[in-house]
Amino acid sequence: MIYADNAASTAMSETACKVMMKYLNECYANPSSLHRAGCDAAKVLFEARQTIAECICARPREIFFTSGGSESDNQAVLSAAAAGRRSGKMHIISTAVEHHAVLNTLEKLAGEGFDVQLLEVDQNGSVSPQQVEKAIREDTCLVSVMYANNEIGTVMPVREIGAVCRRKGVLFHTDAVQAAGHIPINVIDDNIDMLSISAHKFHGPKGTGVLYARKGVMLESLINGGAQERGKRAGTENVPAIAAMAAALKECCDEMQNSTQYVCALRDKLISGISAIAQSTLNGDLKKRLPGSVSFCFEGIEGESLLLLLDKQGICASSGSACTSGSLEPSHVLLAIGRSRSLAKSSLRLSLSRYNTPQQADQIIKAVTQAVMQLRTSDC
Ligand SMILES: *Cc1c(COP(=O)(O)O)cnc(C)c1O
Repeated sequence: MIYADNAASTAMSETACKVMMKYLNECYANPSSLHRAGCDAAKVLFEARQTIAECICARPREIFFTSGGSESDNQAVLSAAAAGRRSGKMHIISTAVEHHAVLNTLEKLAGEGFDVQLLEVDQNGSVSPQQVEKAIREDTCLVSVMYANNEIGTVMPVREIGAVCRRKGVLFHTDAVQAAGHIPINVIDDNIDMLSISAHKFHGPKGTGVLYARKGVMLESLINGGAQERGKRAGTENVPAIAAMAAALKECCDEMQNSTQYVCALRDKLISGISAIAQSTLNGDLKKRLPGSVSFCFEGIEGESLLLLLDKQGICASSGSACTSGSLEPSHVLLAIGRSRSLAKSSLRLSLSRYNTPQQADQIIKAVTQAVMQLRTSDC
């Protein structure tokens, strides 16, 4: 099997697996308990928080553990909206290419009277700091712009957008789920107020993530109950998963230079190989792009049929995001970068990791080339 759907989820690293197994076995006490076993669990949690904070240049007190990217996105957006409502600021700026965890939360807020403005993206799927600056008003309570896109891999000018927001005194949230562990993140230099992370996108376990909230940012609790996470997220902490997430993120950050070089070379090999197919269009920015991200549209074919043919050959890929596949609607991201509805339905996303090999890249190129040809010559 060739696994090339790492934007949907990743294999756990050996390190993360070992940590998770160890703590599943040994660290089962509740970290809030006062006995020694509880204190041991609390210590594991404390260290994980410290490790994760270091990876993004945050302070441990600014790290809040959640159930993953979706929850972090929801909490960030809803917290900013609640603060906005209190001060009569009901304008929210975001982009047309966000993940549905952000978009659907914004839609709900729009239904409650918020003025939600989704910035259009350019042909590469990016927004500019100038666009953000022009859109900011007296009553803007939040700017939410993703760090990197999950479908087409475009990396946004987050640092510059953050600088605009800081200068204008507007809260800035970024969905960094695709970026964390893959490209360097520094919440201070990047001028970020809130940031979402999910462990299973960087070889950690599913069902755990982080919301970074800069000191002074008011968070609303979505889950009410105990006083865990300084009262901002109730529920007994998933200590083994959190420890594994910290180990996975540290591993990615320590090895980032090497793996970026390796994965980028694989990606560029795939891009040049697949570009040779007639009437293929690369999606996303050629340079400002996630290391593992490859996205194409192929004139005249159905993306779903392509996926089935590739799956028959043991290649796991995706048409767009895991969330929109299965629905017949073309991807909102591909429509936003100007692809026609029919071209948008012909998309293929291959997302690589450090576990892929050059041989696999060759096999993928061959299989995609053959499959596209086969679909174009069959007359259905
Ligand atoms: C995967 C993903 C999410 C959702 O994360 P979960 O942990 O699966 O809830 C949010 N945003 C982006 C950009 C993603 O790629």
